[in-house]
Amino acid sequence: MSPEALVQPLPTIATPLATTSPFSPEDFNEHVMTTYARYPIALERGAGCRVWDTNGREYLDFVAGIATCTLGHAHPVMVQAVTEQIQTLHHVSNLYYVPQQGALAKWLVEHSCADRAFFCNSGAEANEGAIKLARKYAHEVQNIADPIVITAHASFHGRTLATVTATGQPKYQKGFSPLVPGFYYVTYNDTAALEAALDDLDRNEPRVAAIMLEALQGEGGVRPGDRAYFQRVRQLCDERGILLILDEVQVGMGRSGHLWGYENLGIEPDIFTSAKGLGGGIPIGAMLCKSFCNVFQPGDHASTFGGNPFACGVALSVCETIERENLLSNVRDRGEQLREGLRAIAQKHPNHIAEVRGWGLINGLEIEADSPLTSSEIVKVTMANGLLLVPAGPKVVRFVPPLIVTEDEIDQALGAIEQAFASL
Ligand SMILES: *Cc1c(COP(=O)(O)O)cnc(C)c1O
Repeated sequence: MSPEALVQPLPTIATPLATTSPFSPEDFNEHVMTTYARYPIALERGAGCRVWDTNGREYLDFVAGIATCTLGHAHPVMVQAVTEQIQTLHHVSNLYYVPQQGALAKWLVEHSCADRAFFCNSGAEANEGAIKLARKYAHEVQNIADPIVITAHASFHGRTLATVTATGQPKYQKGFSPLVPGFYYVTYNDTAALEAALDDLDRNEPRVAAIMLEALQGEGGVRPGDRAYFQRVRQLCDERGILLILDEVQVGMGRSGHLWGYENLGIEPDIFTSAKGLGGGIPIGAMLCKSFCNVFQPGDHASTFGGNPFACGVALSVCETIERENLLSNVRDRGEQLREGLRAIAQKHPNHIAEVRGWGLINGLEIEADSPLTSSEIVKVTMANGLLLVPAGPKVVRFVPPLIVTEDEIDQALGAIEQAFASL
């Protein structure tokens, strides 16, 4: 029998898809672990850059699942890719070749400095893979018995034990000791601090295997990497045979106005990771590397879900849409428009707004240290005005809309922010 003949006709599904209404926050809080302090709304529908809550209220979505919904909500390309892939084949195993995985790896390799890709399910898992690869490289090539990975203060690399240790923010590590050995922290964008750390750590024998940084620190306050700093980091790595790992989980996949954040810095990493925007909201992560450090052998690393036909087929449709619809130029233009508008608002409120900064469509508005305002207060006020935003730390409000955001939608968001600051 042909495969088509075996497929059952699709049932027509009456909305809603699941029994989630009427929604009860009390019920939710009774059954879900209390790991998040949630805003008091539940979102049930989305289209483009808009979402609707269970009361039918509309919001402009400048969070996009935290820099994840690259093509917004219910994008026709994603609807088609998801539907076709689930009807054809959604999961097998890496015991077999997965053509969609090969095609996605090829696209990523052809559109980056990397030569190889490994697929997993999240940013933390991609960074775990990068740390494991660096450690294996340290043992096999650099001859380091107890390798050290240098990361930055205020960084964010994930919530698993190794990646939360890599994360240079004590608030995320509190309560989870013993942490993973082999990490050391330096101040971001500070060349002298890095040089001093390397001299100190490698004084008697080489111990530093890798330096792992974000091209732009996202969670840590939307802080773009400094070009001169990253060029010096690259030079130091080359001189000393140290691997440079870039965590592109938030800033990669077009969000910075280039496909990869490192393109803003004029350097290439040896290893980099991607997740958030890669699948446009379908869970997928990737760890990519250059040939020379591709030391993994069969059995060294794995993931059951990693690289399955569903996630890879959908992610490839997202990648191809970024290219076909020339979204990078939209990211650059809309980013300029947003920063210009935010700076005009900042000029009217110099006591409250310290700085507006970012690349492409990852931008932050930093609140004056002396101002009593906090980022979460501003997020609550704009939410009441129909605009979703997300804090990046207590004093920075983050703007990460879908990459398809329009000129009108940026203007609308600016209107809501203007209104918020006028009312505060
Ligand atoms: C979100 C994020 C991670 C963690 O990704 P998860 O998918 O939540 O595990 C890692 N690094 C950076 C830079 C991130 O922004």
